[in-house]
Amino acid sequence: MAIDLNGLLKQVGERTAEKFDSLPDVIEKGQDLDVTKLQINSTWHRLADVVCVVADLERSTNLAKGRTPAGVASIYDAGVGSIVRILATFGADFIDIQGDSAFALYWDNRRYERAFCAAMTIRTYNPTFTKEVVDRWPKAESTGFKIGIVSGPVLVKRVGPERQIDFQEPVWAGRPVNYAVKTAQQGSTERLLVTGAVWDVIGKNDYIAYSCGCNPGLPGGPPSMLWQSVELEKIPDGQRHGNYVSSMWCSRHGQEFCAEIMAGKTTRGGIPQAEMSKRNLLDEGSVPLKEAYRQRAEEKLASYKTYLDAPK
Ligand SMILES: [Zn+2]
Repeated sequence: MAIDLNGLLKQVGERTAEKFDSLPDVIEKGQDLDVTKLQINSTWHRLADVVCVVADLERSTNLAKGRTPAGVASIYDAGVGSIVRILATFGADFIDIQGDSAFALYWDNRRYERAFCAAMTIRTYNPTFTKEVVDRWPKAESTGFKIGIVSGPVLVKRVGPERQIDFQEPVWAGRPVNYAVKTAQQGSTERLLVTGAVWDVIGKNDYIAYSCGCNPGLPGGPPSMLWQSVELEKIPDGQRHGNYVSSMWCSRHGQEFCAEIMAGKTTRGGIPQAEMSKRNLLDEGSVPLKEAYRQRAEEKLASYKTYLDAPK
């Protein structure tokens, strides 16, 4: 295979300049898009606000250690297959599998509610999945899904050879998918992480912010605030002020809470004042987190000063 390297580089260089000179058409779609009807052409479509859920298989690069290839394949089939079913059950508008993670996009009505319920269901499925893996391979490393939710605007267009529909794929450009992968990767199988923009919406929902009041399986306690702040280290902008929750759907009340959230309910009575204050504190950005930022800024300044003061 003879490659005309210089010719190729010249060609892509010229093409790049041409593409930049003729800006592509971008059609504003708001929240309304039928992805199956996208034509293959140069037009992009912009969705104003998309909620992205990513479930990333933990330690996926080490799964082959102590397992046969068929064993590793069965982990993918059992795990990723279940995740896709969960994402679809909550009405994902688009689902794809990229390597070891499944991602779903929600942009239609109740997108935050559907995305959250799907993510919380994955969180609740995790122990069942992990137990099966450990039971079958007690000596190999276990696994499970790390989960993140992110939201923001995206651009989409369909790419691929015109007559081969099987090779045509929508491509999603924008921060949500990229940030969701970064967010999920920072988590663990026992935590569900969300960015600041997602919290701004779901944090106002009493069914999401506070517990049912059960204390490991025993009902009757007061509702408590479930979320804590976390700095999402790989996210470069303001979205890095995230929050996480470690709890799962309650075996007693999960069904009811899920139904209320999906029905669009947001307000509950009987939340103790102290727990409400905790939520307000989280909305303002947590005190320890702010303190951590201040300290880091001071450290940076100090090291910079040392550099400036160093003898020449
Ligand atoms: Zn409960």
